[in-house]
Amino acid sequence: MNDKLLTSITPLPFAGKTKRAPLIVAGPCSAESRQQVLRTARELKATGSVAVFRAGLWKPRTRPGTFEGVGHKGLEWLMLAKQETGMPVATEVATREHVAAALDAGIDVLWVGARTCTNPFAVQEIAHAIEGRKSVAVLVKNPVTPDLDLWIGAMQRIANAGVTMIGAVLRGFGYYGNSYYRNVPEWQLAIELHRRYPGLPILCDPSHMGGRRSLIAPLSQQALDMGLDGLFIESHCSPDEALSDSEQQVTPAMLSDIVGSLIIREKGLTSESLEMLRLEIDACDNELLNILSKRLNVCRLIGTYKREKGMQVVQTSRYDTILNKCLDQADALGLSAEFVKAVMSAIHQESAVALHGQGTPCPYLTLKI
Ligand code: PEP
Ligand code: MN
Repeated sequence: MNDKLLTSITPLPFAGKTKRAPLIVAGPCSAESRQQVLRTARELKATGSVAVFRAGLWKPRTRPGTFEGVGHKGLEWLMLAKQETGMPVATEVATREHVAAALDAGIDVLWVGARTCTNPFAVQEIAHAIEGRKSVAVLVKNPVTPDLDLWIGAMQRIANAGVTMIGAVLRGFGYYGNSYYRNVPEWQLAIELHRRYPGLPILCDPSHMGGRRSLIAPLSQQALDMGLDGLFIESHCSPDEALSDSEQQVTPAMLSDIVGSLIIREKGLTSESLEMLRLEIDACDNELLNILSKRLNVCRLIGTYKREKGMQVVQTSRYDTILNKCLDQADALGLSAEFVKAVMSAIHQESAVALHGQGTPCPYLTLKI
């Protein structure tokens, strides 16, 4: 198969002045009003570091009843922002109607969101709608699940439609339950994507990845350290009043500080095995902590239930059953019995505290390692 993603990709035209300077795409999660769009665009332009202005018009919200975007009428505001600031403008498309409306209005960059990327039918429909239209750049966010082939397949569909300016955006992956990140980074997918498609620009979206303002700077730095080509950051002139994703948006001034604090190293993306393995360790640790937190939360619920029913809170026979089951499993997984006993004992001790209610010490348990 002739892989057009491999053979026809060209650099994005808005790349930074110096070779290693990251391409910054920034703007509000959603366009909300003419005034909000123009004010945010002006302030972002004034930072001097933003290459492309973004704003969502059709918002793929997880639940109905939340703000789903202003739709077509926002196209005019984006074009005003472009005229006034000179910045190319980007918006998300999910249907053929979105593509036609955005291209007719003069939008420069389209992006395919994570939920849309997950559905090949939707991506193909977008690709057909772009075919034969004037040149446009398309950024494709990773699908919701960490499926590299699904992500690549989406970009191949866009490349097959004749688009040569394509970029990938790592925005992290969905997770069931509480997670430190809103979407787990899984950096190793970006590294592997780079290994397979060395010419493909890869951006990081630290806003949707972290889900909170405080994580934008560290995630951006990590992305640059890994050699990613740019950042896709949500910025709003008045983030606390934003109609969507308020907690993860920063003011243009904050964005400017974050970008100014980033250290650009002379090292590119690498698939060197040590780095890859370290990333996998980081991903495992992240998963371990999430699972431990989930387990303790269940213990708290059990504790409340038992206290309400007047039952004994810790039953040692239950612990013995759990431990024996774990030891059987440990053997099959190549883990030593001593190690698993030590880990389970520590978990049991903390669980007993959780069962008794937060802050109440458990009187009769000692950690035996
Ligand atoms: C967005 O960038 O506004 C967006 C909806 O992102 P994602 O598709 O990554 O959730
Ligand atoms: Mn958003």
